[in-house]
Amino acid sequence: MSVEKDQIYQVEIIDLGESGEGIGKYEGMTVFVDGGIVGDVVKVKINTVKKNYALGKVVKMIKPSAFRVEPACPYFKKCGGCQIMNMDYTKGQLFYKEKGVKDAIERIGGFTDVEVLPIIGMETPFRYRNKGQYLVAEGKQGVQIGFFQKGTHSVVNIDDCLLQSEQHQIINQIVRDFVMEFGIKIYDEKTHKGMLRHVMIRHSEALGEIMVVLVVNGEYLPKEAMLRERLVEAVPELKSLIVNVNTAKGNKVLGNKNRVLAGSETITDQIGNLKFNINPLSFFQVNPVQTEVLYAKALEYADLSGDETVFDIYCGIGAISLFLAQKAKKVIGIELIQEAIDDAKANAANNGFSNCEFHVGKAETVISELYEAGNKADVVVVDPPRKGCEPEVLETILAMAPKRIVYVSCKPSTMARDLKILCESGAYKIAAVQPVDQFGHTVHVECVVKLEKI
Ligand code: SAH
Repeated sequence: MSVEKDQIYQVEIIDLGESGEGIGKYEGMTVFVDGGIVGDVVKVKINTVKKNYALGKVVKMIKPSAFRVEPACPYFKKCGGCQIMNMDYTKGQLFYKEKGVKDAIERIGGFTDVEVLPIIGMETPFRYRNKGQYLVAEGKQGVQIGFFQKGTHSVVNIDDCLLQSEQHQIINQIVRDFVMEFGIKIYDEKTHKGMLRHVMIRHSEALGEIMVVLVVNGEYLPKEAMLRERLVEAVPELKSLIVNVNTAKGNKVLGNKNRVLAGSETITDQIGNLKFNINPLSFFQVNPVQTEVLYAKALEYADLSGDETVFDIYCGIGAISLFLAQKAKKVIGIELIQEAIDDAKANAANNGFSNCEFHVGKAETVISELYEAGNKADVVVVDPPRKGCEPEVLETILAMAPKRIVYVSCKPSTMARDLKILCESGAYKIAAVQPVDQFGHTVHVECVVKLEKI
């Protein structure tokens, strides 16, 4: 065997892995290197050897990469939130995200002649998020509010996350002080005891509205009225303060039940000229500036003239649906979460659209029911979660045979797998692939693809 456990080898990092790790080769064996970035030459200590690859950690830097930059955030080394903040944004991060899309299209999709357009990056890749989901944990120095440490379940306390709005610091500090002062029991995932689990903060940059969600292992947070008073006083933009009840074991952040502690159950955000109500349980894109770019591309690729019936599958609160509704005869949205569908209906009405209908349920079931009931699609837009589309969804789309399919994705590998299925049918070809960076300093990348009927 060429690579052995606990041995140290010199490796040049030649690629970026899916989780932000460096990828190198040693005597033909692929080595995934924690702590290495593309262009580094490093000494790596191997901790795992498998049949086709090995895992290891940088123990010594021999020659640092030209892409290396000093991470702007002091928590970067510990915090698991960002993976590649130590790489130059434009030359390093964006280049490798675009390459990740190209590789997926080629290797997983099997497409050798598809051009991937240059990635559209952010102008300012800081404080771009409209949502922060913080863990609350007991630490040596008292209550910790922050994110998981890389590869562990310990929580790194974060005073200021550079991807989030500055107001999060104020809100989290009020919660920290409240917990300490009143001795509120923090949730412990091992014993399943304690009350406060998470703090989720959403804000609308355009309208200046803030939502704070306190995720509690029970119906009430002890002394919650006191916390309400403090937050309401210190955060004038607070439009919605929610207790979310999550008594389940496991990693899921939110439970299904919300109780309004102050204000209303939703906040409103604006993308382009459209306004959206957002419930704590609903998905909403986290980067409003780049979302506008993404939705504009999806609309461009849908290429609507006004006569079309368009399906928006995995529609969430109807964000893409309403963009499409501006140019379509009719939009039919499908989504799993009831609260999101309630918001979608309200959003259509509030923005003055009468050409949208929304269906709640699993896409794989609902789309075939709609198809069997005689509904036809001229254009189909899909925007699935990371696992991609269920095979039944792809089958029904192929049976519906729309003129165009627009595939919006947050995970290139599952997108490439689904594009392969759609194109192998012989009915579609890829007309454009546009990566858009919504998630600077993390390894994630968004992509929009146009498929045309052959
Ligand atoms: N297009 C929307 C939401 C995309 S996120 C937007 O841009 O805001 C993906 C959405 O798919 C989520 O709202 C999630 O609740 C939903 N979803 C996940 N699995 C689903 C399924 N099997 N059927 C229908 N919707 C599903």
